[in-house]
Amino acid sequence: MFEHLKKTDPEVFSCVMRELDRQERNIELIASENFASLSVLEAASSFFTNKYAEGYPGKRYYGGCFVCDEIENLAISRCREIFKCDHVNVQPLSGTQANMAVFFAVLNPGDKILSMGLPSGGHLSHGHPLSFSGRFFDVVSYETDPETGLIDYDEVEKIALRHRPKLILCGASAYPRTIDFERFRKIADKTESYLMADIAHIAGLVASGFHPSPVPHCDFVTTTTHKTLRGPRAGVIMCRREYATVIDRMVFPGIQGGPHMHIIAAKAVAFGEAQKPEFRIYQERILKNSRALAQGLEKKGFRLVTGGTDNHLILADLRNKRVTGKQAQEMLEESFITVNKNSIPADPEKPFVTSGIRLGTPAVTARGMGEKEMYLIADLISRVLSSKGEKKTVSQVRSEVEVLTKKFPVYGGIK
Ligand SMILES: *Cc1c(COP(=O)(O)O)cnc(C)c1O
Repeated sequence: MFEHLKKTDPEVFSCVMRELDRQERNIELIASENFASLSVLEAASSFFTNKYAEGYPGKRYYGGCFVCDEIENLAISRCREIFKCDHVNVQPLSGTQANMAVFFAVLNPGDKILSMGLPSGGHLSHGHPLSFSGRFFDVVSYETDPETGLIDYDEVEKIALRHRPKLILCGASAYPRTIDFERFRKIADKTESYLMADIAHIAGLVASGFHPSPVPHCDFVTTTTHKTLRGPRAGVIMCRREYATVIDRMVFPGIQGGPHMHIIAAKAVAFGEAQKPEFRIYQERILKNSRALAQGLEKKGFRLVTGGTDNHLILADLRNKRVTGKQAQEMLEESFITVNKNSIPADPEKPFVTSGIRLGTPAVTARGMGEKEMYLIADLISRVLSSKGEKKTVSQVRSEVEVLTKKFPVYGGIK
């Protein structure tokens, strides 16, 4: 593989190969990451890279788009079958662009949005002041309960009734429990708000029926395709038929130019994979592994936000371990275990430091690890953090990580 790159640009080739080595060697526990199949990667690096296809199937602004039309229609129809939604736009370049398109399609600058705050597990694009979303819109946040870590739906309703937002956004980046979309619909009905769900993290679980679908309850559903869905790095918007035109117009020409047809081809492949029975088994294993990792950590004295997990991710509160999220992330990275620091509810530390780490099982499950390996990983994490990253422990854990990851190759030793 990459024989041309190797010849023409050894510098870039070297980076590509060292990144592959890192991915093969490390235990990847970042909840938003995954390993796309080689078929997805092949489509993503295919000849569609070369093609301009502004517009939509059948209505393009360039010639030569008949194959692009076919691949985009294929991605659309597969996605509609999976999520049973009226309308799909597969052109958003990322999850953030998908959210931006929905906001700009139905809101005016200054309109009010109600969404989950970043400290509780919300996403930057849901209204953080540093994001376009916080600059263009008037954002009201709900936070999870500081004691239980759960969404307090009665509290959300109270805030909604007080502020009457034009749009209510549910969905999160670090919420380890099931989200009650039906309850959100009831709130949105009371305040006559649009209801939007962002299922970037849980899309794979929704696709396979392991998390209730927001589609019947929401006006708009956005997602990324690269997290539990295991496709290329990109976004998708689903909506009710009545919003199809405003959404499509806002994606193009509203906020984007030419669609990335190579990535749309890769989305079609990922959706095809998600329709196969193996995908359901994969998602079920993600959940089993997440529960096993949670149990393993609890046995080692870790406190988990909400006391456990219903999905692919776990949020560990490290305060009783006397390390910050930032320190933990760094010590684990030294030990070839990749996690990310994450705020916990009512976190006393700044967002750049935090008191927690977020762990997810999509990637380790994709490489074939099971519950036994999750208990082992919990033990490795515990040893690194208990030793406060002491050199001897780190080097011992490193070699154990390497033994483990060699047993579960991601791409089967491609070179
Ligand atoms: C990951 C994520 C996104 C953004 O995805 P990008 O592709 O990085 O822009 C949006 N919303 C939620 C809830 C996410 O977790």
